[in-house]
Amino acid sequence: MKSNTIYQSLIDTSQNAFFFAKTNGAILEANKAACIMFGYTEEELKRLGGSSILDTKDPLFAQMMIERQKDGTINGFLTGIRKNGEYFPLMYSSVRLIDDNGEEIVSIEATDFSEQRKQEQQLIELLQHSKELHKKEEEDRALLETVLDNITDGFFIVDNDWKILFWNRTAERILGRNEKDLIGKNVWDEFPVFAPLREYKDYNTLYNLKQSVHFQEYYPAFSIWADVSAYPSDNYISVYFKDITEIKSLQTLESLERQVLEMNAKPDIPLTDTLDFFMKGIEEIHSGMTCSILRLKNGRLYNWSAPSLPKIYIDAIEGGEIGENMGSCGTAAFRKEKVVVTDIENDPKWALFKDLSLSLGYRACWSFPILDSNNDVLGTFAVYYKKVKEPTQKEESTLERMKNLLMIILENTIALETITATNQSYNLVSMATRDAIWDCDIETNIVKRSGSGLTALFGYDIEETMNDNNFWLPKIHPDDIDRVMELQTATLNNPNESFLEHDYRFLKKDGKYAYVNDKSIIIRDKNGKAIRLLGATRDVSEIKENEALLLELNNRLKQRAEALAASNIELERFAYIASHDMQEPLRMITSFLQLFKKKYEGQLDATAEQYIHFAVDGAERMKKLIMDLLEYSRVSSNKENYETIHAHDLVESVLNLFSDRIEEMKVVVSMGKLPVIVANKTQMFQLFQNLIGNALKYHSGNLPQIIINGKEEEGYFLFSVMDNGIGIKPVFFDKIFLLFQRLHHKNEYSGTGIGLTICKKIIDRHYGKIWVESEPGKGSCFYFTIGKLLENQMTS
Ligand code: ADP
Repeated sequence: MKSNTIYQSLIDTSQNAFFFAKTNGAILEANKAACIMFGYTEEELKRLGGSSILDTKDPLFAQMMIERQKDGTINGFLTGIRKNGEYFPLMYSSVRLIDDNGEEIVSIEATDFSEQRKQEQQLIELLQHSKELHKKEEEDRALLETVLDNITDGFFIVDNDWKILFWNRTAERILGRNEKDLIGKNVWDEFPVFAPLREYKDYNTLYNLKQSVHFQEYYPAFSIWADVSAYPSDNYISVYFKDITEIKSLQTLESLERQVLEMNAKPDIPLTDTLDFFMKGIEEIHSGMTCSILRLKNGRLYNWSAPSLPKIYIDAIEGGEIGENMGSCGTAAFRKEKVVVTDIENDPKWALFKDLSLSLGYRACWSFPILDSNNDVLGTFAVYYKKVKEPTQKEESTLERMKNLLMIILENTIALETITATNQSYNLVSMATRDAIWDCDIETNIVKRSGSGLTALFGYDIEETMNDNNFWLPKIHPDDIDRVMELQTATLNNPNESFLEHDYRFLKKDGKYAYVNDKSIIIRDKNGKAIRLLGATRDVSEIKENEALLLELNNRLKQRAEALAASNIELERFAYIASHDMQEPLRMITSFLQLFKKKYEGQLDATAEQYIHFAVDGAERMKKLIMDLLEYSRVSSNKENYETIHAHDLVESVLNLFSDRIEEMKVVVSMGKLPVIVANKTQMFQLFQNLIGNALKYHSGNLPQIIINGKEEEGYFLFSVMDNGIGIKPVFFDKIFLLFQRLHHKNEYSGTGIGLTICKKIIDRHYGKIWVESEPGKGSCFYFTIGKLLENQMTS
């Protein structure tokens, strides 16, 4: 039993629970550790039995019980139940025994596994956690890669040997190489164009000092501007790069615009230089583009700036008209809208001009009209490409922007040009004129004077008038000043008046007064208030003096004319009386000579007969002369006798008078359609009678012909009487119209030499002229005009 006792003490001190029980579960014995483990006293345990302290519902329990029955021993995990109801893991070992009484019993050893389980659980959790952590890391990495892949920056990572470790999608897109082709390869070998990074002044900083660098660089191979940032770490370098071409070109554009505006603001830089600079700048920003600006003048386009277009092309299009299908620029200027020709060869707008442009390689031309603020076309801004090309949105907006800037520059410059030209013209005019030119700001009463007139006319220097606001008024003659001021105030206050003119006397520097004529134009604001007066003062002293002289001369002339008229009337009266009274003694001479001839007929010798004949003939001619003179003196200017005359009828009746002679001489008379005139009928009859009579008298015997014509002209009627008679030498053209002037002896042609003088007098009375055109031997043509009577001529 000694061994039994030892065994018992071992059981009692063991940390594990020990039981002896019957196979039905009734507990026979339990050690201390078992009581502690389950929280029951041994008595309680014996009373309750195994089914109360084990989870018999656990399928393992039944399984283990069967196994013990079969194998005699089991090992495994079961669930214990403590007195406080707590379930806990239990390591369970049991052996089937036969006790001293030969009864079948079981020994059980149970170990509380709660702690281990707890630790185990913790471990699992730990493991789980670490697993999750790992997973997250994986996910994070994937996320990072996705992020890096998708960031808009190009991004790649190289190790210290410059082997590419990562290459994101933007880098693929910008640089045109795929990640899978590049991973593990040396970046310098793959991208020799990256040399700037290596040549970058801070490369040493990056590579050796492991400090980040940042720079911007243009990569012609990719036609991009890149913003590059490189961040070194111990084992690798990450490089970010951004395509900043657009920003850069915008910046370049902005700086170009700034420079252009600065140039434009400098008056000493010619506009064409500024435009050329601008065009070249745009061409640099947009490679392959050739720019041109044309100026519109009178419907035609002229080169303004095209620094890169060949001269032959510029010359060929110089002065081209605008209109539909007149190339891109001609059409754009005509339509006042943008014209984009993407393919010159096949566009009807270029049909007329394409040969030259194609021969020079230009295939596309987009033109933008440059309009001023009044929507008038100043010119066109065009770009040419040597390929068929449509503008990208970016290009179009850049060009629109350029066009707008051009609009501002050109409108300003043209306005400035106009002002300069106007000022120049104004200055030149004021230099050219002898007037004193002035420009008065009415509100401030400041008067600007220009030109040399003031000095030349009045002796004052322009400088001395400059600061003298009261220069003019005190120099106006005291007798004229009130009138001048009254007129000026009334005119300026009347918003409908736009001119002011007055004459007055003005004191010259030499103390004498000049007569001046002052003319000015009034400029008013929108309310009609006069704000400016622009004028010219002219010295009219000489004209005034001449006027006075002329007036006096006129008066004297009038007096002389009156005296002459009086003596003329006297003379006419005398001629009338003389010729009238002389007829009586002449008649006596003629009749006594005729009586004498009758009485002594046959008693006188031939000589006496001839003397009598001469005397009778002389008396006859004397009679004719006296008659003609009487006729002449009767031609009066009495307008009361004016009447409407059908010239045609009048000439007909004159011709009737000569009908015998016409028939006898077989004269061919023709007459045009003669006008209706207003004149003295008797005198007109006399006129035609004399001219037709002369035409008949001075015929050359060879099929005589007389042509009478007449027509209405502005202000007068023109008549002509033409013959094919003996003609007149040009030296006598004037003489024949003088009294008693004859070109022939009475034996050749009878006459008194008064006929044409009477004609002239009649024509004078009818405000006309008479003249002859003739060639000796061929005939003469007498022309005369009859003035159309004005109302006042009729009544005066
Ligand atoms: P008259 O015929 O009485 O001599 P006129 O005064 O009519 O006087 O003419 C002046 C002169 O002009 C004439 O003497 C004549 O020499 C010349 N004359 C006038 N008419 C013609 C004519 N139709 N053809 C040629 N000579 C003419």
